[in-house]
Parts: sequence; structure tokens; C-alpha cells
Amino acid sequence: MSLNTYRDVAHTNGYEFTQGGGYELPTYPFVPPPELHSQAPARHPIVIVGGGITGLTLACSLARLGVKAILIDEDDTVGVKGASSRGICYTQKSLEIFERLGVYEPIAAKGTQWSVGRTFAGDDEVYSFDLRQQGSFNLSQQPPFINIQQFYIEAFLVDRIQQLGHVELRWRNRLTAFEQNEQLATLTVETPAGSYRIEAEHVIDATGSNSPLRKWLQVPFDSKRGDDRWCIADVRFSTRPPTERHTWIEAPFNENRAVWQHLMADDVWRIDYQMAPNADPAHVSREDVVRERLARQFGPEVEVEIVWVGPYAYRSECVHHMRHGRVYFMGDSAKVVSPFGARGGNTGVADADNLAWKLAAVLRGQAAPGLLDSYEDERLEAARENVRVTNRTARFLRPAEGIERVYRDAAIALAKR
Ligand SMILES: Cc1cc2nc3c(=O)[nH]c(=O)nc-3n(C[C@H](O)[C@H](O)[C@H](O)COP(=O)(O)OP(=O)(O)OC[C@H]3O[C@@H](n4cnc5c(N)ncnc54)[C@H](O)[C@@H]3O)c2cc1C
Repeated sequence: MSLNTYRDVAHTNGYEFTQGGGYELPTYPFVPPPELHSQAPARHPIVIVGGGITGLTLACSLARLGVKAILIDEDDTVGVKGASSRGICYTQKSLEIFERLGVYEPIAAKGTQWSVGRTFAGDDEVYSFDLRQQGSFNLSQQPPFINIQQFYIEAFLVDRIQQLGHVELRWRNRLTAFEQNEQLATLTVETPAGSYRIEAEHVIDATGSNSPLRKWLQVPFDSKRGDDRWCIADVRFSTRPPTERHTWIEAPFNENRAVWQHLMADDVWRIDYQMAPNADPAHVSREDVVRERLARQFGPEVEVEIVWVGPYAYRSECVHHMRHGRVYFMGDSAKVVSPFGARGGNTGVADADNLAWKLAAVLRGQAAPGLLDSYEDERLEAARENVRVTNRTARFLRPAEGIERVYRDAAIALAKR
């Protein structure tokens, strides 16, 4: 995978990115599936819909357990076209799961480890932590965090699945219709060579925040969206800031709005700027406007290569149930959270890890089907907690005028004490 410089390409997705395409991603070939030529639909024990970080983690977990499955994805690459570098921060828990799956080594070799975070308000450092000093983090063989572009992890998972076998990856296979009854589920899939139908005992919805299955099944969910707007600049520098996570709650160089600064793989820094409420995404991501913003923070003399720009808005959503008949929701199809706290992809990985061994045990006859109900018991609670925490963070970063802002100012003033 190589990096290109900034290109001006318009795209949208669930997070409302409007520009991107700065990374060159690998492409995987379309192979006509055998069902295209058969009259009766073939039956599979598990069909995973969606090959993002969540679907691929589940596929890899099943492959490691020797469980057969099919994964279909409408795209022919990793990442989301035009928003390729969304996720960057991976937690110790996810890294432990990746170790078990056999993809930790390439992640550790490519990514950047960090443990120190500093929070600033104006020119004041109001809070800091070093996760390595917190005893529990040293109980793991994995570091507290690794920063790496999300698509690298997805590509390592694809390689590992192909190595392990058992799971067939079908690129450019798009789910277009779905029905289910007591006995089985039937999926209609469109490909460049025509459409086909397959039957499945278990269907995993890992299609992300715009899940078509959620719409078709009329799954109830809670949803909230605000006016907070951000703009990412993924950049390379002629200078090197410290390899720490820096957060400004109020950055003097960003009109006293928030800024996050992190290092990722390939010496690329993610600088994430909070914009004015309801800011125009086309304007805030214009190259000259992005360069001016960077110059205000790092000085006009610093040479900057812009790798990727992504203006975004966010929303929070959570389903009321993680399972509907034969369909299990996981990752962003189950809940959508703001990016603050790096909880979206990491909890998708944990969802997949939770369900994989249970599916394996039930399909092998080693456990009763009732075991699968514990997926919802455990992961719905996690989804709700993640929505709660990220909503609180989002409110802290964009407090409503009035008492919320008074509380935030007081919290910042007291933070050092
Ligand atoms: C700015 C930003 C920063 C973030 N930072 C972090 C971070 O640091 N750490 C973190 O853990 N998370 C982070 N996240 C969140 C993270 O990116 C998402 O939570 C994660 O991508 C969700 O993964 P997923 O596999 O569930 O869904 P997706 O990544 O959206 O994947 C869905 C897949 O389904 C496929 N698909 C969709 N519809 C169909 C269909 N009909 N048929 C077949 N295939 C279909 C798509 O092609 C896609 O491959 C961030 C998000 C943003 C916006």
C-alpha cells in the first residue's frame, strides 16, 4: 500500500466525509461465485455481510476456529472508499484479540505505540496520564495503544483469512434483499456477473452505520445528532512533534475550539480540528484553508505534506436488540458513536470476538443454541455504555450555551487541582 498526496475527490458515507481518496488501497479480485450458475440456492451455516474491521475480525476468528463461512462485501478493497483512514487508535484489548488471530505482529511492526496523553486548555496543560504507569496495563503483553490507519488492520486480516482458509471472501458482492423464517434466512446478492440467492442459518450484519438490514427488518434504534463539525488533516511534517496524544479542549490557534493530535503509521500525523457549528464541509476542507489552519498551529515555516483531508459530522445510535431472528448486529450496524475515545472499531472487534467462539461451539454441537443469546446480553450493555460515554465526551467538547458551558469551564479550571 502506498500513500499519495491530497486529491480532491467527493464521497459521502455514514460519517458524512466529503473528501478523501489520499491513500491507495489494495484491490481484491471479483471471482464469480458458484451459485450464479445453480438453480437452487446453496445453504451456508454462516454468512457475514460486510468486510470492514468488524466483519473481517469475525471472519478471521471463525477461520482460526476452523468454522466455514462466507463473507460478502459490496466493495473490492479495505477501508471505506474516500474515508479510508477513519480509525487510528487500537486499544490493548483489541491488540490482545489480534494477537490471538495472528495479526498482531504486522500491526505492531507498522503502527506506533503510545501511552502518554496530555490535555491543554489555552496554553495550560490541565491534565496528563501515562498508561504504562497504571499497573493493570502491564499485565498484558500488548501495549496500552497502537495507532495505525484502520485499513492496514483490515488488509492484515484479509491476508490472514486467506492463509487460514475456511472462510470465503467474496468482493463486489452486494446484499440487495433479505428474508428469514423459522428455518433459514435467504439473501439476494448482486455481483458484476449477475445476482444469486444463498440460504444461511446465521447472518451477521457488519454493514456499518448505514446498515440496509436494519432498515429492511425495521429494527428500532435510538439516534441523536448535533451541530458539531470537525475536519481531519492527515499530514507529514518537516518537524516531529512528540509521540504523545495531545488534546486541546480550547486551542488558541483554532479559535479556542478543540484539536486532537496523534501519530499513526508511515510518519503520518492526524490533526483533527473542531470547526464552527454547522461549518460548511466543502469550505473547511479546501486545501488553502487546511494549510492556513496548519500554519497557525505549527508555524508558517513548517513544510507540510497533506496526505488526506476528511471533514465530518457524527451521530450516535444504538439498537434496542443485537439479534433479530437469524441476524446478529455488530460493530457500527449495532451502534454508532462519536470518534472521541476510539470506541467504534474497538468495540466492533470485541463484538466479533464475543460471537465467534459461541457460533463455533453451537455449530459443532458442543453448546446449546441458547448460548447465542448471551451475545446480546453482553454486547448490548457494552454498546449502551459506549454510547453513554462518547455522548458525554461530545457534550464536553461541544457544550450547549448556558449551564453546560459553565460546568465545562469549571471542570477545566479545577482540572489541575
Ligand atoms: C474520524 C473517525 C475516527 C475514528 N477513529 C477511530 C479509532 O481511532 N478507533 C476506533 O476503534 N474506531 C474509530 N472510528 C470508528 C470506526 O471507524 C468505525 O467504528 C468502524 O469502521 C466500524 O467498522 P464496521 O466494520 O462495523 O463498519 P464499516 O467499517 O463501515 O464496514 C462496513 C462494510 O460493509 C460493507 N457493506 C455495506 N453495505 C453492504 C451491502 N449491502 N452488501 C455488502 N457489503 C456491504 C462496506 O463495503 C464495508 O466494507 C473512527 C471513526 C471516524 C469517523
